[in-house]
Amino acid sequence: MMAEIVYVDEKSEIPLYGVDFIGIIDRGTNVIELKPLTLCNLKCKYCFVSAGNYNTDFVVDPNYLLKKIKDIIKMKGNYKIEIHFAPYGEILLYSGLFNLIKELWNIEGVETISLQTNGLLLNEEIIKKLEKTNVTRINISLNSLNQDKAKFLSNCENYNIGNLLKNILLLLKTQIDILIAPVWFPGENDKDIEEIINYVLNLRNKGFSQKRIQIGIQKYLIYKTGRKLKKIRPKSWGYFYKQLSMLEKKFRIKLKLGPRDFGIHKRRIGASLNVQKNDHIRLKIISIGRWKREYIGKLDDNYGIKVLLNKPIPQPEQLIGKDIEAKIIKANYKDNILTASFSI
Ligand code: SF4
Repeated sequence: MMAEIVYVDEKSEIPLYGVDFIGIIDRGTNVIELKPLTLCNLKCKYCFVSAGNYNTDFVVDPNYLLKKIKDIIKMKGNYKIEIHFAPYGEILLYSGLFNLIKELWNIEGVETISLQTNGLLLNEEIIKKLEKTNVTRINISLNSLNQDKAKFLSNCENYNIGNLLKNILLLLKTQIDILIAPVWFPGENDKDIEEIINYVLNLRNKGFSQKRIQIGIQKYLIYKTGRKLKKIRPKSWGYFYKQLSMLEKKFRIKLKLGPRDFGIHKRRIGASLNVQKNDHIRLKIISIGRWKREYIGKLDDNYGIKVLLNKPIPQPEQLIGKDIEAKIIKANYKDNILTASFSI
């Protein structure tokens, strides 16, 4: 079944801050995180946001994003700003990407533009465009060099690891830095992680610097609304870092990367809303969400809020435009992400 697509532009009145799955996430640093779409070409078995499987998908108008980004940069100060594309989906499916990147470079203070991708849509033409638009860094999720394992994890019969590796080599011929970002699934891809480390070391031995080809191993995290890999039990953060230390010693490679490695530092955060968990607030339901029970509420022109219904309703549209009172169930001040619940 094809998902419905909601186009988020100024006319839609859907605010660009406050909702985790679309718009702009400001974590109080020099990095401005963009989520311009929710479409994905994969349905990975471990996807923590269950992308590729939504009832409704969202695409944000690049001009709407641009306008808000300019405001946020003005507030943060126009120096050392990184724009990081990290959608709940695949960024190379975003048709406005290259024009948006060009416009972003025209903003004073933007020094880095980076993006996350599963890499499967890379080809010569796209790599040329990425090169021409001066993308600084691409983070590629790559969990195994083994074709069958990669197919299994990505839930994709056509996953072509050979092609992806060929495209990584092509990217290395450009000025774009690469960060290989495998997720470690304990007991599932332990050997694969070591093979990926060796792959990165081999490239460095061929002359590519640490900056040109980095590796950032990620911890497997489980979320209630995400997809889970059967039988895999995630480990504690302590165990994860211990494992990284062991691999660092074994391969003589730096694996523990922190904000400093990426030039991330604290910066002013946009005005946050003065709401607390368990507060009751009035809001207007402005759009349906990704799932049947999910909606987007509007608090003001800037701030949206994810609203979860206690049960799905037969005609979801009937709530659109309604003013309701909802209870805040999550107020993440660090990221300015809000969630409320509403019972019908
Ligand atoms: S893990 Fe990434 S590539 Fe895989 S389905 Fe989720 S968003 Fe898409």
